[in-house]
Amino acid sequence: YHELCESHRSTKILRAPIICVLGHVDAGKTTILDNLRQTHVQDNEAGGITQQIGATNVPLETIYKRTEMCRKMITRKDDFIIPGLLIIDTPGHEIFKNLRSLGSSFCDLAILVVDIMHGLAPQTIESIELLTKRQIPFIIALNKIDLLYDWKSNNKENIELVLQEQSQITKNHFEKRYNDIICQFAQQNLNVALYYKNPDPNEFYSIVPTSARSGDGMGSLIALIIEKCQTTLTKRLTYTDELQATVMEVKSNYGYGTTIDIVLINGHLSVGDKIIIAGQEGPIVTQIRRLLIPESNQELRVTNQYQTHEKVKGACGIRILATDLEKSMVGLPLFVARQTDEIDYFKNEIETILKTILNSMQLKEKGVYVQASTLGSLEGFLQLLKTSHIPYAGINIGPVYRKDVIRASTQLEKDVQFATILAFDVKIEKDAQEYANTIGVKIFRHDEIYRLCDMFISYQEQIKKTNQEKHQHLAIFPCKLKILPQYVFNTRDPIVCGVLVEDGFIKLGTPICVPSKDCMDLGRVVSIEMNHKSLDVARKGSEVCIKIASKTSETPKTYGRHFDKDDILMSKISRESIDVLKAYFRDDMQKKDWELIIELKKIFNII
Ligand code: GDP
Repeated sequence: YHELCESHRSTKILRAPIICVLGHVDAGKTTILDNLRQTHVQDNEAGGITQQIGATNVPLETIYKRTEMCRKMITRKDDFIIPGLLIIDTPGHEIFKNLRSLGSSFCDLAILVVDIMHGLAPQTIESIELLTKRQIPFIIALNKIDLLYDWKSNNKENIELVLQEQSQITKNHFEKRYNDIICQFAQQNLNVALYYKNPDPNEFYSIVPTSARSGDGMGSLIALIIEKCQTTLTKRLTYTDELQATVMEVKSNYGYGTTIDIVLINGHLSVGDKIIIAGQEGPIVTQIRRLLIPESNQELRVTNQYQTHEKVKGACGIRILATDLEKSMVGLPLFVARQTDEIDYFKNEIETILKTILNSMQLKEKGVYVQASTLGSLEGFLQLLKTSHIPYAGINIGPVYRKDVIRASTQLEKDVQFATILAFDVKIEKDAQEYANTIGVKIFRHDEIYRLCDMFISYQEQIKKTNQEKHQHLAIFPCKLKILPQYVFNTRDPIVCGVLVEDGFIKLGTPICVPSKDCMDLGRVVSIEMNHKSLDVARKGSEVCIKIASKTSETPKTYGRHFDKDDILMSKISRESIDVLKAYFRDDMQKKDWELIIELKKIFNII
């Protein structure tokens, strides 16, 4: 192993590996990140979900200290040939999955967090699929071992030893959970093994038992990351000077104006460089004024202690100060034009990328208008809308301006419920809100996608309910009734008789007529009873007693004289009532009810 390190040192310079953390919700991703970064950011997150992306540089010095108990794996400080770790604070898994351009493409090594008590959960499986599909190597952190029966915590030793020193009963509990989880992985076609028993790291994914809470096993996890980076990943981690950088966040803060946070994977950036990045209104060309790196071991967004640099080299997370960054978009590459003629080339490149992405977002003719702070979060949100069957007709990135309200207002003529802007984690300009109020565009804003989605769904339901109440008197549901002659209780107004619902369904208020007698009107159904119980509605196949009251303006019709048992009764529908059903009562109608409507349309000559 020493020799291996030596040989690499003499021939290659490695860059810092970029590490991502994935797993099911509540498995402990944030806590593991906190532990790795030694920060506490969870409290700042909306609903505990990590929805934005930050990066932390963990320097060699810290790594060395934290892996003291694993000197068997890493014996001397000189053995490190990577300069440190660059840890990405991944967003919630659902969003991460959809970041085509973000996250996983530059992730060198992932930590898949599994809760030892719960095993593999749906998002763990999705993470596995995501990682294997993109061929991203990963290490499994089997987390929350402190919850094992009678666990004796020790974060000063390597986890192999800590496990050995547990009581037999704790060991048994561990074995049982561990074996279950191995089987669950096998069901996903993955071989896994405890890292210190791994027979072949090329075939078996390594597991490190951890407790992110007490820190047990965290040193071993870091040591294993280092080992993996310095053996199997050296090729990927070899530094090249060809620039590879991605914009992660756009911020306006600390009196610096708008800045961008980027991850520089390979290559270098210097103050004065001409950069080209994607903006909401096309490519942005600007010049780097300052390069800031947070103080070691601090995350970019939780500190304002910066070191300024003239030149930085990958891999690292950097904040860039420059003019014209207000409309920058995240999740897309940053280019540097070293020669003037490269500016147009890279502008084109950015335009092509933007076109491809927006084209793939499948806008509908009728739908809501969606706005998000970043391309990544927009993609994640659209995915959620798709699974929730909410169509979208317009999208944009950045704050909601008056022009967005104007675009959303085109839906007013199509379907009022869609004249709605769903603003995910973005500001709404005052005059945009005022204008929206004036013309009747609704704006919902939230910084959690699920909540925002729910807000719209309840709004839709509320609109539906109001519409139904408003149009109730115009809705006529289709029915076909056969008179039961042995149950005719009153032959003249109000007619009271037993009927069999032959087709469709009968509802209170339905106007009834006799098609075979020139569509003679009988009146409206004012009560429905079955076994002396009142009903609002009776479906096909039921036998019920109904009361039909005629309009006062009409001469009442008599059973036995104007019509009799052989005449089928039907609901008297109209063009208007069909339109009302279509617009507001679709959910109450089944396919065969629509078929009956078609039959009735012919009988009543409705075009
Ligand atoms: P995430 O949703 O995957 O980011 O999970 P969090 O890091 O937010 O953790 C979910 C819950 O599990 C929190 O209440 C944590 O305090 C707790 N937790 C995380 N790691 C551990 C651990 O190792 N042991 C125990 N007992 N609880 C943990």
